[in-house]
Amino acid sequence: MISFQQVDKHYGEFHVLKGINLEISQGEVVVVIGPSGSGKSTLLRCINRLEAITGGNLDVGNVKVNDKKTDINKLRRDIGMVFQHFNLYPHKKVIDNITLAPMKVLGLSKSEAETIAKYYLKKVGIEEKANQYPSQLSGGQQQRVAIARGLAMKPKIMLFDEPTSALDPEMVGEVLDVMKTLAHEGMTMVVVTHEMGFAKEVADRVVFMDKGQILEVASPAEFFTNPKEARARQFLNRVL
Ligand code: ADP
Ligand code: MG
Repeated sequence: MISFQQVDKHYGEFHVLKGINLEISQGEVVVVIGPSGSGKSTLLRCINRLEAITGGNLDVGNVKVNDKKTDINKLRRDIGMVFQHFNLYPHKKVIDNITLAPMKVLGLSKSEAETIAKYYLKKVGIEEKANQYPSQLSGGQQQRVAIARGLAMKPKIMLFDEPTSALDPEMVGEVLDVMKTLAHEGMTMVVVTHEMGFAKEVADRVVFMDKGQILEVASPAEFFTNPKEARARQFLNRVL
């Protein structure tokens, strides 16, 4: 589903991703962990070409992400992304945040889009908030709206970049629960998170990054009990 082959990414002179090799299968949940600045967000952002790679090959399905001929809008329709800071439109009601892309991008009618929006709001447990504005919701509720918004496009892949890092601790669980449900339903997910409990419980594989490289890829059972890399052990000692 997602294939990195010797992928490099530079920001000017700065070599941020170094020879990344990673294959992610359909339905797999991959959790990416590592110190701040190690390139986790950049890795995610290359998948939907929010950042362009500067070397190697990156495929999503049978699409070459870095090919000039690739229809980026089509690629992005298949990939939902959830950010740390929700990125909802503050001046739009919850339901209008969700119907916007299905109407504009998929060409659905307002009523079709609203039916889908309500379905996903129910799925994330906040159907009663449809007509509120984002500022009237808690952080956890706003993030669940952001997830519903992503799902309403019926993506094949969902990317999560520290989706709970900006939340008050008591709201982390409600967002992770929604993500767990998605994972169990077979969504292909790449999740950057510091929530080690989530990684242990939900990840099929854990990817540990440091300084632009993938140092270790392992099942959570292996990684958390017997990390092979000294840097990974150090990291775990600090976060666990
Ligand atoms: P992480 O998500 O693991 O914290 P990032 O992928 O955000 O790491 O960043 C990796 C490195 O690339 C950091 O040193 C960061 O400062 C740098 N970086 C990120 N985005 C840019 C950018 N747009 N231009 C220049 N450097 C950047
Ligand atoms: Mg980041």
